Amino acid sequence: MFSNKDEFKLAFLKKLEMGFGKTFPESTVRDQYHTLGNMIREFISTDWINTNEHYRLTKQKQVYYLSIEFLLGKVLSQNLMNLGIYTIVQEGLSDLGIGLEQLEEIEPDAGLGNGGLGRLAACFLDSLSSLGLPGHGCGIRYRHGLFEQKIMNGYQLELPDHWLRHGHVWEVRKEDLSVEVPFWGRVECTKTGENLEFKHLDAEYVTAVPYDLPVVGYNNSTVNTLRLWSAEVSPYPVNKDIMHYKRETEMISEFLYPDDTHDEGKILRLKQQYFLVAASLRSIIRSYLNRKGDIKQLSKDICIHINDTHPALAIPELMRILLDEYRLGWEESWEITRGTFCYTNHTTLSEALEKWPIHIFKPLLPRIYMIIEEMNERYCHELWEKFPGEWDHIQEMAIIADGVVKMAHLAVVGSFSVNGVARIHTEILKDREMKLFYQHSPEKFNNKTNGITHRRWLLKANPELSSLITDTIGNDWVYQPEQMKNLLPYMNDSAFLDQLAVVKQKKKEQLAKRILDQNGLLIDPTSIFDVQVKRLHAYKRQLLNIIHIMHLYNRLKEDASCDFYPRTFIFGAKASPGYYYAKKIIKLIHSVAEKINHDPAVKERIKVVFMENYRVSLAEEIIPASDISEQISTASKEASGTGNMKLMMNGAVTVGTLDGANIEIREKVGADDIFIFGLSAKEVMKFEQEGGYNSMEYYYHDKRLQEIINQMRNGFLPDVADEFEPIVDSLLTENDQYFVMRDFDSYVNIQQQAGSAFENRQKWLRMSLRNIAMSGYFSSDRTIEEYASQIWGISNTSLETSIN
Ligand SMILES: *Cc1c(COP(=O)(O)O)cnc(C)c1O
Repeated sequence: MFSNKDEFKLAFLKKLEMGFGKTFPESTVRDQYHTLGNMIREFISTDWINTNEHYRLTKQKQVYYLSIEFLLGKVLSQNLMNLGIYTIVQEGLSDLGIGLEQLEEIEPDAGLGNGGLGRLAACFLDSLSSLGLPGHGCGIRYRHGLFEQKIMNGYQLELPDHWLRHGHVWEVRKEDLSVEVPFWGRVECTKTGENLEFKHLDAEYVTAVPYDLPVVGYNNSTVNTLRLWSAEVSPYPVNKDIMHYKRETEMISEFLYPDDTHDEGKILRLKQQYFLVAASLRSIIRSYLNRKGDIKQLSKDICIHINDTHPALAIPELMRILLDEYRLGWEESWEITRGTFCYTNHTTLSEALEKWPIHIFKPLLPRIYMIIEEMNERYCHELWEKFPGEWDHIQEMAIIADGVVKMAHLAVVGSFSVNGVARIHTEILKDREMKLFYQHSPEKFNNKTNGITHRRWLLKANPELSSLITDTIGNDWVYQPEQMKNLLPYMNDSAFLDQLAVVKQKKKEQLAKRILDQNGLLIDPTSIFDVQVKRLHAYKRQLLNIIHIMHLYNRLKEDASCDFYPRTFIFGAKASPGYYYAKKIIKLIHSVAEKINHDPAVKERIKVVFMENYRVSLAEEIIPASDISEQISTASKEASGTGNMKLMMNGAVTVGTLDGANIEIREKVGADDIFIFGLSAKEVMKFEQEGGYNSMEYYYHDKRLQEIINQMRNGFLPDVADEFEPIVDSLLTENDQYFVMRDFDSYVNIQQQAGSAFENRQKWLRMSLRNIAMSGYFSSDRTIEEYASQIWGISNTSLETSIN
């Protein structure tokens, strides 16, 4: 197609003219972006076809990763890099007077996810392809991804995300592969000879149309597929007003639910879940039968991974297919089903465990409900044999109990593997949340500590640091990220440390410029960039961060001469639209920022910046510029975290609790190169079980906290006095569920230590270097290799392997 920049330019100009009927000088930046995108997608198509053909011919086992979210962000630059044509394209465009960054700016983020869970799915796809593994994603093509956040007067406004407004250049609509998904109706049971036959009658059908996105591996010619389903009206007749039916149908793939922890309890959400799994299974089985032909061998040739419980209906759906369509017996169907599914648990927060009321579930999915009932009966029977007479025990483990279907139980019972996402999280699952299931089938449980793709979060997001690493230790680390350990000998090489400092400084200046453009705020690029970027949640404790900032402010006001290194606090966070408390925290951050940023007495020393609309592409700008990574969740609440890993990989030093993957980060870098504070998970869980925490005591005895809480309600902040009452209530009246006041003193101390460490330039750079050097373990390549060998049983059999 093109192999140098001159060929590229010719092809680009020709395609632009053909596609838009314009000459180059008449074209807009958007025309140019679409031209380039279409060109690259076509460039990919040969490898895409070859990869599929290779899988078909070798008949190798395939993995399907089912997820209700895929938070891809922008894909243009990543594709160019993975294809190895970034420089050709960049130079070719530059000859034409086009900056590749300008085209990248035009590309909308594909924001089909809320946060960590969706981004994990995107990182996993990148690693699967880059490792040459046969793994594909299945998701929903939401017409509107996560809302766009605007801040007005300190309050969050939510605007619909219009990422598809100008079309999406990477997708290929495959209408001929559409499938029909039934809802509602009734089940008729007839007896034919020995067998019962079930028919789903009077169903209302929705057509699921697949849109395929190529997932390009790094420099290895592998292109896997992310298949996103769109809901459209079905050609089958319906028994209701057609306009009403059309609206209801299209709603299924209209919006991503803007919440990743609370269960909406909405029929629409359940419809989305069944829509995803029913469409995906039909297409997985169709392609399997084309390749192999024997449905009874399914579990040997296919693995279906369910990312959290949202796609857990795939389990009864496969049972339905085997029982009703292939007429296998229950035992055999169950054997195949349980051999096919694996499940990742993402949280132990009880409010986030999905439970569907029977009165909603049963009418919407009548046949699926019957199958779950049967599964439940058989499972309870099995438990009865093992624990005769222990009704409470059995009741606690049942799939259906107390009028609800428990999705986590369904997922555990129907899978051969259940994994947590960081060591402590898996331990908590085994010891507490899923203790009974663990005792019943310990062999299912395993840990897979999360990871992030170093290709996006280092190679692409931080080309300056990437070049420095490659110049220093060669480029093996790009293929084997754990080789970044080879940077450790440079710990005492002051010339290298200076270069590291130059890179960080450059990234900080770039971010400072962005903040000036976007927020109109001038920040000092030599100050400490102290960063907390993640969804806004009580358990993530942005409140602890802002209370600490108020404390610093009070200290500086009291004693202007006190020893304090200038700091810029940077926040990025979306709050779920219905999460009232989280929105109050956003407002509080803005009120404190308003107060501090305008006070001439401290403005050289503290700045508070809230960057609106946090998303993947913004994360790529903020993270490389960070000095301190705030990972301060209440211990035991953050399953893993992945933001912590991205920041570590870019040389930020963690200030955090012993929670999630922070624990493993500490093991890698050593206790001297991370700042740990606060209650341990055990201590938190002990308080939760036995009581003994009284937040009021902290209010009365810690004058710093008393002053800060008073300042939230006495007119000190530039807002009406009762604005922050819900926050004060959460701390005092509601006894501070997340132990903010309890951990405050410990946090103040550790932050002071972090500040002093920063002042010692060489020491800080060594800490930063150790974080970078030890971050290779947290590449999702390591995570995916573990899934592949320990759960899925797949390996790289591609002809071109990705070995350098
Ligand atoms: C990585 C990432 C997250 C997850 O961050 P945590 O700190 O692990 O909660 C959320 N949102 C975006 C845009 C991300 O890139």
